[in-house]
Amino acid sequence: MTETLFWKDPYMREFEAKVVSVSEKEVVLDRTCFFPQGGGQVGDTGFLNDVRVVDTRKDENYSITHFLEREAAFKAGEVVKGRIDWEKRYRTMRLHSAAHVVYYLLIEMFGEKCKLASSGIVNEKKDITDYLTESFDREKLAEVERKANELIKKGGEIRTWSDEQKPNYRYWEIDGFPKMPCGGTHPKRLEEIGEIVVQRGKKPGAGKERVEILLRK
Ligand SMILES: [Zn+2]
Repeated sequence: MTETLFWKDPYMREFEAKVVSVSEKEVVLDRTCFFPQGGGQVGDTGFLNDVRVVDTRKDENYSITHFLEREAAFKAGEVVKGRIDWEKRYRTMRLHSAAHVVYYLLIEMFGEKCKLASSGIVNEKKDITDYLTESFDREKLAEVERKANELIKKGGEIRTWSDEQKPNYRYWEIDGFPKMPCGGTHPKRLEEIGEIVVQRGKKPGAGKERVEILLRK
C-alpha cells in the first residue's frame, strides 16, 4: 500500500518519495500526494523529477501507480521529487465538495426517492452527477443553487477522516448534515469552494436526470 499524502494534507503540492518499482512508463512510490482516479474524481497529473505524469491510478490494495509520458531514468530505491498540477487539483477539490453540498440539497428538495445513480465524474472544469428521479423542475433546481451558494458563503469546516477498521475507507461531513462515505480530496473550509452554478445536463436516460456543477471563477 502506498502512503496517501493527499489525505494527510490535501493542500500538499510537492513531496519527496522513494521509488518502489518502475516498469517502463509506470512508477510506484512509497508515498505520494498524487490522487489516484476514484469515486469519479480524475487522477492527478504533474511531474516526477522532470518527467510528466499523465495519470494516476490505484489497485484494490491501494498501491498507487503514476503513469509517465515517457520512460523515466530513475530506478527503484532512488528518491524522486513529485509535484502535482495544483491549479487543476484545487479546482477539482472545490467542485467535488460542491457536489456533496448539492447532493444534500437535492435530496431535501426532491425527496428520498431522488437517489444518486452513479458516483459522478469530476475534473477541474465540471462535476457531472446523475440522479434517479423523474424530473428536475427548473425552479427547484434554481432554488438548490441559491441554497448551496448561501451555505458555501456562510462557510464552515469540512471534516474528513479514515474509518478505524479500514484506513482506505473515508468519510466526509459538514455541520447540519449526516456524514457521507467519500475517499476524494476536499478543501478544509466550505467557503473555499466559492460561488457555483448548478444546471441540468443532457438527460442520461429514462428515469434519470443529470446535474452539472461549475465554478463561477
Ligand atoms: Zn468527497
